[in-house]
Amino acid sequence: MTFGRFKISVHNHGFFRLDGGAMFGSVPKSLWSRQILADDMNRIRLATRSLLVQSGRRIFLADVGTGDKWPDKLRRLFDVENFAPQETGFDPAAVTDIILTHLHFDHAGGMSRHAPGSLTDIELCYPEARVFVQADNYESAQNPNPRERASYLKEDVLILEQAKLELTRGTQEICPDIWVHQGNGHTRGLQWIEVKNGAESIAYPSDMIPTSHHLPLPYTMGYDMCVEALLKEKEDFLRRAVAHDWIVVFEHDPEVPAARIKIDGRGRYAVREIVAL
Ligand SMILES: [Zn+2]
Repeated sequence: MTFGRFKISVHNHGFFRLDGGAMFGSVPKSLWSRQILADDMNRIRLATRSLLVQSGRRIFLADVGTGDKWPDKLRRLFDVENFAPQETGFDPAAVTDIILTHLHFDHAGGMSRHAPGSLTDIELCYPEARVFVQADNYESAQNPNPRERASYLKEDVLILEQAKLELTRGTQEICPDIWVHQGNGHTRGLQWIEVKNGAESIAYPSDMIPTSHHLPLPYTMGYDMCVEALLKEKEDFLRRAVAHDWIVVFEHDPEVPAARIKIDGRGRYAVREIVAL
């Protein structure tokens, strides 16, 4: 869609599956399974959807999917289905800037791939792009705590030494009307993205609100490092989203790419209107 002087689109890099219980934290399966079907391993299907923002000659890509460096055992565990670049609907070579919301494998894995003919050497998929990461997140990913060690994969983080890294700190306008904001609830130094057009905004909350099913405040993930902080960040985000009628993009929702938000009759945040970008 055209959004002021921006062209905005969303692109799914593929699907993977995570444990449904882990995706819904303390919410019992009897509740979440009414909305999402789990497979025979109790996993639910998730998208890895990027936001693409074209601003003049610069093309910003937010997050890059799981990538395809998966050994067979992990590929089966997460049921990784990664689309070839020509299936994602954008030209990777045209991307000038990448905003990584955080460096968990399902957000940053697609920064690199196996070098041709090698199963061990890896190379950057976007070698010319400038890459924005929060300084706090980069630091955490280089030295992950035991809970997050399975999410910050060494090869995904090490290769960034070869990238044109731009470390961000807190709230920052990285290009006119493209803002990043720091949150620390899901993981330390997550950055969510806001693209502004006058009073309107398109927001990309990343794992602060991974799917439309996570709109109700208590629907947080077992993966969240600090749920109390997350709740505050999420409430602040959703209050603004409703007040200013933001378009919110859901990175992991297999069905709902983006929506405007409302407070429903029971006082819970919910989808008001699905938006096609
Ligand atoms: Zn994620």
